[in-house]
Amino acid sequence: MKVPFYRHDLAASDAAAIAAVLRTPHLTTGAVGRAVEAQLADYFSTRHAVLTSSWTTGAHATLMALGIGPGDEVLVPAMTFIASANVVELVGATPVFIDIDPETLLMTPAALAAALTPATRAVMPVHLYGQMCDMAGLRKVLATRPDIALIEDCAHCFEGRRADKRPGVYSDAAIFSFYATKNVTCGEGGAVVTNRADLAASLRSIRSHGMSAAAAERFQNGFYRHWDMERLGLKANLPDLLAALLPPQIKTVDARLARREELARYYEAALSDLPLRLVESVPDVLHARHLLPIHVPPQIRDKLIHGLNSAGIGVTVNYTAVPATTYYREKYGFACDSFPHARAWGAGTLSLPLYPALTRAQQDHVVDTLATLLEALTRSHRVHVSGVSEAPPQNFD
Ligand SMILES: *Cc1c(COP(=O)(O)O)cnc(C)c1O
Repeated sequence: MKVPFYRHDLAASDAAAIAAVLRTPHLTTGAVGRAVEAQLADYFSTRHAVLTSSWTTGAHATLMALGIGPGDEVLVPAMTFIASANVVELVGATPVFIDIDPETLLMTPAALAAALTPATRAVMPVHLYGQMCDMAGLRKVLATRPDIALIEDCAHCFEGRRADKRPGVYSDAAIFSFYATKNVTCGEGGAVVTNRADLAASLRSIRSHGMSAAAAERFQNGFYRHWDMERLGLKANLPDLLAALLPPQIKTVDARLARREELARYYEAALSDLPLRLVESVPDVLHARHLLPIHVPPQIRDKLIHGLNSAGIGVTVNYTAVPATTYYREKYGFACDSFPHARAWGAGTLSLPLYPALTRAQQDHVVDTLATLLEALTRSHRVHVSGVSEAPPQNFD
């Protein structure tokens, strides 16, 4: 039985939405995108939403809009996708990694407080796997530092909430990804939601080369309009061809979360007797259930992945600790024992298939295969499951 790691559930009606854009003269950013921006601002109850070509370009544009650059520090968790740190590098600022909580794997207010320096200009908590960080707590830590922007990486958390608050409430900007495997997807895309009018206006300009606002309308009324370049920008707008896939998904994302939750609970119950660790649930969080990672002894992780792949099951690793990747390790010279929680998690984690179209039979195949492989591997390697903080650090020298 084949169990792909991910499968989207776009349908024939979605093809019709793209066909409708094909009948318009310009395929790029226009009326469809504007409607999706209004829908996003409504969903998150924020004043503004700006669509971008990806999370990465949205975050890059946000850091540019905030004037963050050389000499500035941006705090980023050590356990996240590399993009969270890469955008800081791209503007010439310094990513300062913060180790994660060993149980929830999130950035905590205490860890943030300990990492602040006079050079800190932004903090980027990541709602890892779909559980939201304590945004109210993080905002409180920054109460005396209005010079620091709070930016949420919401790539895993579109429909999640914490204490019934959605992303965007406590932050200067909350940034989303509509990449192929995300809970809401159009293949490639992103969005920034914000209550700050200054930030939204800058983002609209930066996503279009830094051109003046008039440029956006230059095709619209049949009369040529001169444009000016007001600042340095990117090319980071989302074409209507892709934006057309988003409205039905945003409308149904809350309803579809019930299916993800059901699948996740079934996994959690079935895996509870196996020698592996799951991420601890945060109380008062509505989990967006983007990924279902498990953690096994690092000595057997890659053999387990090979065994699952051999049985037709797609899995991925989310993620190797960012400071442990070659680029960051060599550039900043991190020691092997730095960021121990992120490194230990990264050395033993793998993610199981989780998407609404997954069937019960497929899930059972994943669980049964996992159980059989784990039994054989733990016996032959004589390993036992230990707390993540006790796991040996990844050896990358
Ligand atoms: C997917 C992802 C990103 C990058 O999103 P893109 O839209 O592909 O640029 C950033 N952060 C996290 C945590 C992600 O999972």
